[in-house]
Amino acid sequence: MKAFGGGDLLDENLSPFGVKMTPLQCIHYCLTRPGVVSVMAGSHSIEEMKEAIDYCKADFQAKDFAEVLSHVPKHSFIGHCVYCGHCAPCSKQIPIADIHKFTDLCHQGEVPETVREHYAMLSHHASECIECQLCMPRCPFEVNIIEKMKMAQKLFGY
Ligand code: SF4
Ligand code: SF4
Repeated sequence: MKAFGGGDLLDENLSPFGVKMTPLQCIHYCLTRPGVVSVMAGSHSIEEMKEAIDYCKADFQAKDFAEVLSHVPKHSFIGHCVYCGHCAPCSKQIPIADIHKFTDLCHQGEVPETVREHYAMLSHHASECIECQLCMPRCPFEVNIIEKMKMAQKLFGY
């Protein structure tokens, strides 16, 4: 719920980030949070509803929220993964954003069983990282991806 923050996120004067986001960017941001699989988007008109439904056929560029969030003046996401996917592709095909997401779902070293199962289902895992650094310059949020891969390997064991 509240994918648009009650409409505030669509208005640069009301948004807590001080920048305007599009409905597609808001929906994509919500759907890329750990554990989120659906979004309930409010609308005032059929046009607004159609705009939200367009998410289903929108390309990555239209949904991409990274550029907006990397310049927010009031909040800093630097050093924190927002699961935007800009670091892809990994030279070893590791799904970097998914690995971050599952790692962030483990609090104080506790790995919930469902998260462990989802991690196991990934086609490639953190232990396959060869520290080539190809991904690092692509991250708009300066996340230390290699350190995060090591953290994930320690948590999940591979
Ligand atoms: S540093 Fe690791 S995660 Fe990044 S591209 Fe290379 S192998 Fe993939
Ligand atoms: S590591 Fe950086 S580029 Fe990759 S998903 Fe996270 S925030 Fe985005």
